[in-house]
Formats: sequence, C-alpha cells, structure tokens
Amino acid sequence: MKRTLTILEHYLQTKYCRQFNSREQLLTWQNQQVQNFLKIILPQSPFCQQYYQGLDIQDWQNFPIIDKAKMMENFDQLNTVKILASEAFEIAFQAEKTRDFSPNLRGYTVGLSTGTSGNRGLFLVSSQEQWIWAGTILAKLLPNFILFPEKIAFFLRANSRLYETVKSRSLQFQFFDLLELITDHIQQLNDYQPTILVAPASLLRLLADAQKQGILKIFPKKIVSVAEVLDLLDQNYISKVFNQVIHQVYQCTEGFLGYTCDHGTLHLNEDIVAIQKEYLDPDKSRFMPIITDFRRTTQPIIRYRLNDILVERKTPCPCGSVLIAIEHIEGRQDDIFYLPHGSSNGEWVTIFPDFLRREIVMVSDEIEDYQVMQLSLNRIEVALKFKNNKKDLIQAGVFKSLESLFKRLHAQIPEIIFLDDFPSIPKGQKRRRVWQRQKLGF
Ligand SMILES: [Zn+2]
Repeated sequence: MKRTLTILEHYLQTKYCRQFNSREQLLTWQNQQVQNFLKIILPQSPFCQQYYQGLDIQDWQNFPIIDKAKMMENFDQLNTVKILASEAFEIAFQAEKTRDFSPNLRGYTVGLSTGTSGNRGLFLVSSQEQWIWAGTILAKLLPNFILFPEKIAFFLRANSRLYETVKSRSLQFQFFDLLELITDHIQQLNDYQPTILVAPASLLRLLADAQKQGILKIFPKKIVSVAEVLDLLDQNYISKVFNQVIHQVYQCTEGFLGYTCDHGTLHLNEDIVAIQKEYLDPDKSRFMPIITDFRRTTQPIIRYRLNDILVERKTPCPCGSVLIAIEHIEGRQDDIFYLPHGSSNGEWVTIFPDFLRREIVMVSDEIEDYQVMQLSLNRIEVALKFKNNKKDLIQAGVFKSLESLFKRLHAQIPEIIFLDDFPSIPKGQKRRRVWQRQKLGF
C-alpha cells in the first residue's frame, strides 16, 4: 500500500505540481529544495561531513565537485546506510553472473554503472527511492493518465529490480532481455502488441528493420529510446518506419536526467534534479552536467559530474517549458578525439564526436551505419555499412570529408584506415559509434 501511495504521490506531484512559469521561479524553488535536503543529509554521511566541513549550505552551488572516481574511493563513508563497496560489488557481480536480479543488500538495491572508461560505479537505492523514481518516470512517459491501460514492452540489459517496481492493474509490463535472440523478441512482440515500446536505440533500429520487412507487425503509439545515445541517423529511420516522433529517456544509474516533450525535444529534468553546466567549448554550446539530486538519500549525489557531453539547444522549444532544452546528447567526454595541432606547436586539437558524425552522415544517405575509432595520435579507423556496392565511391567521400574536417580544425591529418568488416557489438553491450580505443595519456 505504501508503495502504491508513494508512486501515485510522485506521479501526481511531477505531473501537476511542478509547473514553473519562469526559470527564476524554477531555480528559486530548486535552490530551496537543495538546501533543505543538504541540511538533513550532510550529517548522515561521514564523507560529506568532512568534505564540506566549514562550507555554507547556502553556497552549495560552489561546493567542490565529485566525480565517479572520487565517489568510488569514498563509497563506504559516503553512503548513509553503512554499506561497504566490497559487499555491494559482490552482490552486483553475482546478480550479473546468475542473471537473478532479485537479491539485495539489507533492503537496498545495488546498481552497477557500465563505465566504458574502465571504472565501474556502484549505486545504492532504497525501496522508497525506487518508488519515487517509478512515479516520476511514469509521469513523464505515459501519454495518458496513469489509470489508462497500457501495455509496455521494456527492453533491458538486466531485468533489474529498479524496473520491477513499476507494475499495476492498468499498466502491463513485459520485460525483454537484450541478451535473447532478436527473432524471439519479434515473435513475442507480435503476440504482445505493446502500446508503448521502450528500448535502446540500436535495438529499436533492428525492430524498425523487421517492421519494414513485414516480419514485425506492431503499432505502438509511443516509442522511447533509452540507455544509448540516439543519433540522428537512427532517429530519422525509426521515426519514418513507425511514423511517429521518437522519444528519449536520458537516464543513468546516477539519476533520471531528461525526457523529451511532445515536440521531441529533450529537456533536462530540473524539476527533480538540480543540473549545473560545465562548459567545454568557448562558445558555450557543449557542457558536462553537474548534478545534485535533492531526493536521493541513500547515496547522496551532490555536485556530481557526469562524463556526458550535452549540446544545448539555442532556440527555445515551442512547448514553452522552462527546463533546459538539449539539442542532443553527444556522447561521453572520453569519446572526444585529440589530434596534434598542424603547426606541431605542442597543442592539441579537440574533435567532438558530433563533428565526425556529421561529416560521415553527410557524405551519402546510403550510409546505414558507421564506427569511427581513434587508435593513436595518428591513426583513425572507420567502418562503414551501406546499402549498395558503391564502396569505393563512399569510402573516398568519407575520406575526403574527414580530411577536410581535420584541416579546417588545423589538426595534423592522421592516417585514415577503412576496415573491411564491420565490428560487431557484443550482445547486451551499449553501442557507440565514435570512440577512442585507448587513453591518450593527457
Ligand atoms: Zn519542449
């Protein structure tokens, strides 16, 4: 009963009580929320007590930043429920191995963030926090009122307890394990006929292929991309096949950070998390979010810097929301390519993943998929998938286009190698189209 009430309470609060007329109103409210939260939570976390000692809560916006490494280093002292990283890791690994995601640790669910840069993060949530999360996500995701019946197909890497929370009489959920075969999924989806389809972009793309071929026959009224960056190539394709706007959930173990409005624009969830920007470029269009989640008490997330690069939308969204609008999520900060400056002056040229994406996609609309990897300071590998057999023509186009990009940015031109085979992504792993294979050591 408490569960249903909490979910409903947060559903209603998010949907109806957190409407802001201006950014000032939103930020004033948020500031108050964070301060109230810090007053309660700081004394409960030994790490926080020490880390923010002598600092004024009113000045929280300038508190020192925490990143994943710092959080993991201090995990034992940071959480407010005295759980050790060693025991939490053990539970998390065990769950991954046995694919039984039911066990928890003294009533807390352990989540593992899939760090692509090597360091995995641990996240603890209480039942209460999960219910709040469920109510909030439903408020943002459901096209109709919560009592309207929906059949939701949810594709996940792991059927984690976090998602099990959301079940009710009117809402039907079916979970699909990403590790299963796509042919099985298609059959099950045809039987289930979901009204809402939630899956990572790469899987939505496969389903769109199947739908186009007529093997899959589903007619969801809402499609939501989760877990991976939804890039324009996939977005347009999936949207065309299913004839609708593709929505996007920006969510990670660190929190539920963004959701698309009716216009398909991604807005940051500033009504539930405070988000500050650390700009990455001089014209202030790209930033890394620094989040303060004023509702998470088990493992406080205070001025926590995410590794993601977000591109801010320059024009206001027609929906009129005061929440920050995002053009798109560009990728991770460690997906940025670095090349030596053309003048060999010892400087580095920064190449954002988007620059590379745009150059490749613009070459030909025959390109269906691509991967770009930086292997070293003077070697870049490119793999392409395309519809026809104009391989030489397309490769030459991509080569020219990348070369001119590097020239424009005044970088030394690296060796650009085309791979014969398209690298396959191990099942269940997140897809990245632009990535660095090795740390470049700076
Ligand atoms: Zn909008």
